[in-house]
Amino acid sequence: MDFRVLVLGSGAATPTFSRHCSSQVVCINGKRMIVDCGESTQNQLRQYHQKIQSINTIFISHLHGDHFFGMPGLLSTMHLCGRTEPLTVFAPVGAKHALELMFEVSGTELRYELNIVEMDFDEPRVIFKGNRFVVKAFPMHHSIPTYGFLFEETDIYLNLKKDARSMYGLTDADCIRVKMGYDLVMPDGTVIPNSELTLPRRLPRRYAYCCDTAFDPGLVDVLAGVDLLCMESTFDSSFADMAEERCHCTAAQAATIAKQAGVGQLLLTHFSARYRESTPLLAEATAIFPNTVCASDGAMYEVMNRNA
Ligand SMILES: [Zn+2]
Ligand SMILES: [Zn+2]
Repeated sequence: MDFRVLVLGSGAATPTFSRHCSSQVVCINGKRMIVDCGESTQNQLRQYHQKIQSINTIFISHLHGDHFFGMPGLLSTMHLCGRTEPLTVFAPVGAKHALELMFEVSGTELRYELNIVEMDFDEPRVIFKGNRFVVKAFPMHHSIPTYGFLFEETDIYLNLKKDARSMYGLTDADCIRVKMGYDLVMPDGTVIPNSELTLPRRLPRRYAYCCDTAFDPGLVDVLAGVDLLCMESTFDSSFADMAEERCHCTAAQAATIAKQAGVGQLLLTHFSARYRESTPLLAEATAIFPNTVCASDGAMYEVMNRNA
């Protein structure tokens, strides 16, 4: 099952020539979803050959412009290009009013159904159920209401042992049932236990997106053991005071959360425009959590089992 993240924008606050504002496409089991929608998200979708009309679910972490101001343009383009499929947006309270006002003053009457689900809760909860995955949202500490997102596989199919198919003469239909966990019933009524046909079940893969947030050890519980953690790293430690004041994280703080949560890999993002290169941020983070990479616009990241 495919599970990957395409970064469209890895910059903070203001775009630069090399980094656009926050946005990603998360693809799970063939479904593509947008996470955050900063300015120029629609251009980046085209740049990286993502069909915008195939996207029908968008998650917005918070309503700061660098995560949200791409929405009116993207939704309007979907309309102008003839969209008829419904679209659902999960976002903090205020998104509905903001978008409706934009459409009202611009005289735009969307020809598709736009469902805006506003998030207003204090505990992690499942907000979306897809085909063999769920999405949970959890509150974070930032200067306005902000949510992180956790994408989690469910209903993991089993893998067949190497010779199972030929040894028992499995049909395609048999294979599907066995992969789903059922025992095999032979034509003569003999039952072959599922464990004789399949390898041990692997753990569900999980991807977490935390952007924007202040340093908050309280995140460790919800992030415990995720396979890939994408976390904001707006500053290096020499700007720790500014990070605290603006409710952002340093690279060292993101790495500390990754280490304490025992994640598989850390993907840093949301870099201040003051950094032409992410090298100092990467160096700071890897000193604490070695398996760290810095996001680049246009780069794809696979979500793999952390012990694979
Ligand atoms: Zn931001
Ligand atoms: Zn913000």
